[in-house]
Amino acid sequence: MPGKADEYIVVGGGAAGLGVAYQLARQGRRVRLLEARTLGSGAMGASGGMLSPAFEAEYEEIPLLHAMTESRSRYEAWAQELGDIGYDPCGTYEVALLPEDIPYVRRRAEFVQAQGTKIEWLEGPALRRHLPMISPRIAAGSYAPEEGQVDPLLLIHRLKEACERLGVQIETHRPVLACRTDRGYPTVDTPQGPLSAETILVCVGVPLQGLSLPFEVYPVRGQMVSIEPPRPGWLPAPIRYFNRQYGYGYAIPKRDRILLGGTAEEKGLDPSLTIGGILEILRRAYHVFPDLYEARILSTWAGLRPATRTRTPLIAEESLPNGRILYINGFYRNGILLLPFFSEATVAYLLHNQLHPLLQPFYKNLNESTPPTD
Ligand SMILES: Cc1cc2nc3c(=O)[nH]c(=O)nc-3n(C[C@H](O)[C@H](O)[C@H](O)COP(=O)(O)OP(=O)(O)OC[C@H]3O[C@@H](n4cnc5c(N)ncnc54)[C@H](O)[C@@H]3O)c2cc1C
Repeated sequence: MPGKADEYIVVGGGAAGLGVAYQLARQGRRVRLLEARTLGSGAMGASGGMLSPAFEAEYEEIPLLHAMTESRSRYEAWAQELGDIGYDPCGTYEVALLPEDIPYVRRRAEFVQAQGTKIEWLEGPALRRHLPMISPRIAAGSYAPEEGQVDPLLLIHRLKEACERLGVQIETHRPVLACRTDRGYPTVDTPQGPLSAETILVCVGVPLQGLSLPFEVYPVRGQMVSIEPPRPGWLPAPIRYFNRQYGYGYAIPKRDRILLGGTAEEKGLDPSLTIGGILEILRRAYHVFPDLYEARILSTWAGLRPATRTRTPLIAEESLPNGRILYINGFYRNGILLLPFFSEATVAYLLHNQLHPLLQPFYKNLNESTPPTD
């Protein structure tokens, strides 16, 4: 076999790939990570790092809400182990952009509260005590005090350090061109030749280099703007502003900058920034925060969120005569939030064959007669 039998090959060095590589290495396994570009160069490095199950799950997504809540609760331990990842359990807000949006924001708050999430409903002076910088036009919103954020760039850095410390062999600029079987062994083709292992984990998000997966991945472009805060401590926590017609925008305070986001556009693999996208982000932010008129723009970027047809994560397993391939994908808007739970639970499944009940709804066996359509 061209590769080592006791080695795990992880393809992709984003949220999913770094997470499982780290967890496997923590359990004493030998891991080789192949990344087409640099670590975190996909959606992970473009992301906002919000940890906000309350304002992310849609009404029909109760299993996802529970997985997100579980994952959020594991971040404190991850921060203790990894070091400074910008973890801040500062809570998160969702406000109604216009008065007619209030019933929607209220109904979402009531929905997640019924699922066990702590929520405070804020109006008038109470809202202004929490968020004195928002426009008087914003009349109501909710606060989820148990939520928070991390800094994705620090997270990439700390996961890289931890993986290196634990002996993960990281190979950047090493694309995988195909996943296949070679005499029953899971095998990947790279420009330098094929590599086989008993277990291969394919965590590529939106696949590059023409790599084909056994399900569709729909790239959802997110444009972002980073600005200088008007003053230190200006915004205490991430805030989403919801509008019935245009969806939502958000502002996320980092130590030295504020991230404003984000669009959600299906434009294939096109990573362009557009006038319409940036205009929309800034227009909404300015509606909520009139103080931002003079704020300096630091940078702009776009990333491609990997979505399945159902917009839910997918762990798809293909068993082969001499091993298995696991495809971990579909983290869409929540891959940073889901990282602790999904990586720990996937590795527990690999090593002990225990499928955590919260992981079950996202698991598919590709060998079963009906292939997944997502
Ligand atoms: C603008 C934006 C804002 C976001 N905000 C948040 C947020 O606030 N909170 C949150 O939880 N999530 C957020 N997300 C979502 C989160 O970033 C993604 O869900 C997550 O990064 C997906 O992780 P992944 O590992 O599946 O994919 P990625 O992070 O994209 O990583 C995949 C990696 O695989 C590599 N790769 C691809 N093809 C190959 C190949 N053929 N061979 C080898 N390597 C390959 C890529 O180069 C990449 O590094 C946001 C995303 C965007 C774009």
